[in-house]
Amino acid sequence: MIHSPLLPHLAGYINDRWISADAGKRQDVVNPATGEKLADVPVMGAAETRRAIASAKRALATPADAATRRRWLTAIRDALLEQQQEIGRILCLEHGKPWKEAQGEVQYAASFFDYYAPLAETATAPETLPGKVKDCIWTLYKRPVGVVGLITPWNFPIAMIAKKIAPALAAGCPSLIKPAPDTPLTMIALFQIMADRLDLPKGMVNLVMGDAAQIGGELMHSPDVAMVSFTGSTAVGRLLMQQASPRVKRLGLELGGNAPFIVLDDADLDAAADGLMINKFRGAGQTCVCANRVYVQRGVYDAFAQKLVERVSKLKVGDGMKDGTDIGPLINANGYAKVKGHLADALDKGATLLTGKQPDALNAGDGLFFTPAVIGNVDDTMQCCQEETFGPLIPLISFTDDDEVIRRANDTEFGLAAYVFGKDRARSHRIIAQLHFGHCAYNTGTGPAAIAPFGGMLSSGLGREGGREGLMEYIEVQTVPDGSH
Ligand code: NAP
Repeated sequence: MIHSPLLPHLAGYINDRWISADAGKRQDVVNPATGEKLADVPVMGAAETRRAIASAKRALATPADAATRRRWLTAIRDALLEQQQEIGRILCLEHGKPWKEAQGEVQYAASFFDYYAPLAETATAPETLPGKVKDCIWTLYKRPVGVVGLITPWNFPIAMIAKKIAPALAAGCPSLIKPAPDTPLTMIALFQIMADRLDLPKGMVNLVMGDAAQIGGELMHSPDVAMVSFTGSTAVGRLLMQQASPRVKRLGLELGGNAPFIVLDDADLDAAADGLMINKFRGAGQTCVCANRVYVQRGVYDAFAQKLVERVSKLKVGDGMKDGTDIGPLINANGYAKVKGHLADALDKGATLLTGKQPDALNAGDGLFFTPAVIGNVDDTMQCCQEETFGPLIPLISFTDDDEVIRRANDTEFGLAAYVFGKDRARSHRIIAQLHFGHCAYNTGTGPAAIAPFGGMLSSGLGREGGREGLMEYIEVQTVPDGSH
């Protein structure tokens, strides 16, 4: 069991009070590295969600001024950094990612509060347009959209909520948050921090966990919820879009990806291999932005494959809490089965295993630890190219020229992230300009940052998180032409 000063309550949070599920039902949270039960948490449903929405609606009636909102964000940033070790420990235990990565994720989360704190004042101030048009002075008021529902996945238990709650608070939107059932403890710790450190009005932040369909259903159907921001699978994103239509509810959707990683024949192959290692193995490959298909130009294919295999075969898989671990376990049995299935499918269809274990050798004795694999001789029809693998499997695909790789990289309904490595900037940027991915990194495997808008094109989502654009998602611009001058 987990013991933490940040977890005195294993409960939801509604109207400034820690609460259990009405029916008393609870479910276990398990450490994926050891299988040990860490805690149990309430399984809430529609009734608790309705109460949380009502409490958030009351908070909307007493808006805080911009300076106060800025102070909240600064206080959360400071608390996250002060409590980094402990939040990172909770995160590491429930998610399984390596200690250093977990600590890095807390810092990354803090960077969103840091970035949005000043914008709570500057970007929400009324803006008067220059001159007179139609004999009026025109002023734009930045109003909070209203009560927002925030739904997060398990793969970044603190970062995914930071990207939503920081701009929501900056804009003045009360929220109801639903974490993923695999990783609710980090979220509870964040709520403990907010309850301890902030003078938030009652109902400004609410935490409801449990039955996703019931909680989601209430959020989508309630006339009192103005917007839902969701990060997760495209399948659930599609359902939310359908549920949003009767009320034309505003949606933010950060959905799945199928990222191409392109290595051109003029690339620095060591830099590309290093960039891919960081990009692919963060969170054991369970990230929406990580490379899913690695396209390598024919002339450098063998050299790149060799450099990659050298690096991947040295990775140490183990408990994230232990020193020296590079890759932790996968989150659960379903996640493990998917990665193993993709590996088996590719090998059945003619791919070759360059490093890693044959699917038969990935037996029950491995628990949720998946030996990182690189496969060659891959073609686009294999499952690992068609779907997001969400695990430590790298498929290498060779290509001949730029037009071919643009066509193949774009041959997906997803449009979240892509990567291009090549020394000729003009050539690489010609390729980037033709790729339909919201995040297109050049000579780096880096993912998003707080200062920049991030989001998907096509079936990877709607809207942006991070940057000024990420704040505007939570703001309605009200235009007031004033003819009284
Ligand atoms: P998921 O199954 O869609 O779940 C995400 C969240 O949605 C969970 O809290 C889940 O709760 C909840 N949910 C499920 N059904 C719902 C419903 N009907 N109404 C409301 N909420 C519902 O996704 P996941 O497997 O946890 O996460 C992995 C996916 O997220 C991948 O596809 C990945 O690419 C994507 N992702 C995208 C980004 C991005 O920035 N674009 C970032 C991270 C992850 P339950 O688990 O209780 O069902």
